[in-house]
Amino acid sequence: MSTRATPCKSCGAAIIFLPTSLNQIMPCDADTVAEGDTMYVKDKHRAHFATCSDPDKHRKPRQQQRSLFGEDK
Ligand SMILES: [Zn+2]
Repeated sequence: MSTRATPCKSCGAAIIFLPTSLNQIMPCDADTVAEGDTMYVKDKHRAHFATCSDPDKHRKPRQQQRSLFGEDK
């Protein structure tokens, strides 16, 4: 899996989606994700919820969340 930054639809920040051990997809701030990272690591990556200017939009069912972030192309 390649690391590919996507602009957040809420605030425009560069984010990268990483899978978590709970089989979810976590949007992370792109500057905390290193090339080759394939899993979300709590102590390493910063979840974008923490820095987004509109974090409520992230608290949606996964299907809605993915389209919010433009992942359903
Ligand atoms: Zn955002």
